Amino acid sequence: MKMFTRKNTKIINIGGIKIGGGNPIRVQSMTNTDTRDWKATVRQIKELEMYGCEIVRISVPDMESAQNIKNIKKNISIPLVADIHFDHRIAIEAVKQGVDKLRINPGNIGSKEKVVELVKEAKKAKIPIRIGVNAGSLKDVHNFNNPCDRAKALVRGAMEHVKILEDCNFYDIAVSLKASDVSTTVEAHKIFAQKRNYPLHLGITESGSMFRGTIKSSSGLAIMLYSGIGDTIRVSLTANPVEEVKVAYQILQSLNLRNTGVDIVSCPTCSRCKVDLINIVNKLEEELAKIKKTNKKEIKIAVMGCVVNGPGEAKDADFGIAGGHGEGILFRKGKIIGKIPQDLWVKKLISLYKSI
Ligand code: SF4
Repeated sequence: MKMFTRKNTKIINIGGIKIGGGNPIRVQSMTNTDTRDWKATVRQIKELEMYGCEIVRISVPDMESAQNIKNIKKNISIPLVADIHFDHRIAIEAVKQGVDKLRINPGNIGSKEKVVELVKEAKKAKIPIRIGVNAGSLKDVHNFNNPCDRAKALVRGAMEHVKILEDCNFYDIAVSLKASDVSTTVEAHKIFAQKRNYPLHLGITESGSMFRGTIKSSSGLAIMLYSGIGDTIRVSLTANPVEEVKVAYQILQSLNLRNTGVDIVSCPTCSRCKVDLINIVNKLEEELAKIKKTNKKEIKIAVMGCVVNGPGEAKDADFGIAGGHGEGILFRKGKIIGKIPQDLWVKKLISLYKSI
């Protein structure tokens, strides 16, 4: 059950995936390979696909990278976004190579003629453009200390780019307004959402390591999502991009915005726990993350350290295990169906999950 109403943004199509309007909030990530090495880039995208990434962005800093897009596209099955700065010729090449969306700020590519030329190609190929403003690269933002003023400056920056595209009668637009602090990012999105209804790509930029970045991104994204804002999300982490995808799904699941197919309930352990519950739950989570996301009903799995609270939690779950001495009692819909040694818990839980 959702406790909030999502803003009804314009629907745009990214290589067959629709975002905006009532469409599901899509999970995005970005490769960190050298795009000139297209085989390594494909390998990383395939891994991201395995974890459920739905749209992937690559950096395209030069012509060689742009010319690799066709090869990359041929070998992946999710929409591809090219991130390009300043050079409209690289962007046009990316479009010709079949990219599904561009991330480029039209105000940074020079003359009006260059923008017109790029927009003509994007229209012909029916691909959208994401305007992505980052607080770090906007001079105006640095003139202010307080988050509200910084947010207004961020929105001013975004609107300049938006107007350039609108003046070319181009409306197939998505927007991102990123800052590395939560308050500025949240305020900027609230302001922008009142001005235009283009779909918004959310993220807290440069949010940091796995630990800090996960917390910072979750705090910021949750506030915006709970306000009904956001059509795609990227959790930016200084880590393997696969982690970004895992965290993104967890945020969406926690807010009941996406069904990831599975929810794990596990206890914090205490002196009653006589199994290696921490490792078991980590392993289970890792294995479940690799199983392709489906639209089936969310399966709740309880993994509890002992039989004191275990059976109670397991009653509410589709199935679960409550620990004993090196083994556990297996429950299904609250009924005991067997005993399992602790080293077989993960295997058993995965096979039960697959069987439903
Ligand atoms: S379920 Fe058992 S082991 Fe886990 S925290 Fe509760 S009492 Fe402790």
